Amino acid sequence: MSSPFDILVVGGGINGAGIARDAVGRGLSVMMVEQDDLAAHTSSWSTKLIHGGLRYLEYYEFRLVREALLERERLLAMAPHIIRPLRFVLPHDVSIRPAWLVRLGLFFYDHLAPRKRLPGCERINLASDRRGAPLKPLTKVGFEYSDCAVDDARLVVLNALDAKERGAIVEVGTRLESARREGKLWVATLKDASGATREVRAKVLVNAAGPWVADVLNHRLGLNTSKGVRLVKGSHIVVPRLYEGTQAYILQNPDKRIIFAIPYQDDLTLIGTTDVPYTGAPQDVAISDDETDYLISSINHWFKREISRTDIVWDYSGVRPLFDDGSINASAVTRDYVFDIDAPEGQAPLLSVFGGKLTTYRKLAEHVMRDLAPHIPGLKPAWTAEGTLPGGDIPDGDADRYAADLLKRKPFLGADRARRLVHTYGTRVEAIAGGARSAEDLGRDFGGGLTEAELRYLKSAEWARTARDVLWRRTKLGLKLPKEAAAEIDAFLNSI
Ligand SMILES: Cc1cc2nc3c(=O)[nH]c(=O)nc-3n(C[C@H](O)[C@H](O)[C@H](O)COP(=O)(O)OP(=O)(O)OC[C@H]3O[C@@H](n4cnc5c(N)ncnc54)[C@H](O)[C@@H]3O)c2cc1C
Repeated sequence: MSSPFDILVVGGGINGAGIARDAVGRGLSVMMVEQDDLAAHTSSWSTKLIHGGLRYLEYYEFRLVREALLERERLLAMAPHIIRPLRFVLPHDVSIRPAWLVRLGLFFYDHLAPRKRLPGCERINLASDRRGAPLKPLTKVGFEYSDCAVDDARLVVLNALDAKERGAIVEVGTRLESARREGKLWVATLKDASGATREVRAKVLVNAAGPWVADVLNHRLGLNTSKGVRLVKGSHIVVPRLYEGTQAYILQNPDKRIIFAIPYQDDLTLIGTTDVPYTGAPQDVAISDDETDYLISSINHWFKREISRTDIVWDYSGVRPLFDDGSINASAVTRDYVFDIDAPEGQAPLLSVFGGKLTTYRKLAEHVMRDLAPHIPGLKPAWTAEGTLPGGDIPDGDADRYAADLLKRKPFLGADRARRLVHTYGTRVEAIAGGARSAEDLGRDFGGGLTEAELRYLKSAEWARTARDVLWRRTKLGLKLPKEAAAEIDAFLNSI
């Protein structure tokens, strides 16, 4: 029998992928299993922000906000191809929050953690400033502050890719069916997409199953835990671009919640999110009529250009797997992460992850390793604060300049495709287009500039198995291509 892994990670969302990368970089042997596709669940249904979380200050989550603010610039430096700075305009509404409270929050936002690249907060007159132009004249007082936007699914894929390149085994379409302790080892039964099962052994089990964290504990491992997960649904709608400009808006609602309107995919606006308690199966989550109406009415309250259901080109929902801290209000449940370690004397340890944010995944992984250190003799020190994710080694982190240079070298790509490829793959674009001297060298174009060369790369390097993996996670070309393209992409992926 092959030797046991040091760590078996269950779940290929951002937390599982981040933990696998951190662990393998410390010299451990690591396996990560994901039952569906990488980022198939919560990690691709987010608001796609790398942010401090201004609103969490109202819930006194200073530790979380400080850690998240620090991570913004670090992650931006690690992955400048998939993360971009964004300015957020906050129109003030005195009936919801006093101006002094907003100013205090923004002061903390600027000063809780040092900033290098991101500019600080600014007060703006919405009546005279171009950033006020798309809004109804409800208030003159506005503020602007910085955060970042991220391609959430790609953040997961790049962490998994880096983990693989450092030696981790990453398997998609592979479910942890069950696991039992045999002394100091876990014996895990894995089931792959064909239904075949096999056993692997590991010294440590990490349960990063997101919304399934309790399912893994209770049903796959047969353990009972006092810690609970609270599922809170959040939904988004996407409409044709609502306004000119690169800024996002953070809109306050009468229920004191906020929603964002964010420029998305060049010609769209992403709007969300909601906070609704959820008790169904995580995979069945979908936007409700009430959520759609809530998002539409918030936009129509603030923006001159009103929207209706017929404007919606895409919607999506996810469930936040939050740590159950006993809060009554879904919006108030802590967004911080909590670990549960089960390590009976002389037996193999188990660590379960509750909660977390995309923004804090790297620190979460460091903290996982810190808490596992007593169980892993000779663990190497933390290392992920430096360096880049695959494709992120772009000179000066300037992805737009890199795309312009690529276009000069390969004019046949066209400006839109060069830009899309660089903002998806960074310097790894060379693995797709590096050898090509003409458009024909990239093979057939399935639409939107998605070619055979890109599909070959996605299948061989990034675990893409289906059109859905390609169109809705590795890229967002599903928003651009006609529905029929999916069948052709599936056929091509099956043929290679
Ligand atoms: C609406 C919404 C908006 C959000 N917006 C933001 C934001 O803007 N910024 C931010 O920083 N954070 C945001 N978050 C939070 C962030 O998205 C989540 O904290 C994060 O994605 C959780 O990642 P995860 O890895 O824990 O879970 P997941 O991404 O759900 O990954 C868990 C994985 O485990 C797999 N799995 C489960 N059971 C098994 C098994 N038995 N065997 C194998 N695999 C298994 C699942 O298939 C799943 O893919 C948002 C969340 C939501 C819901």
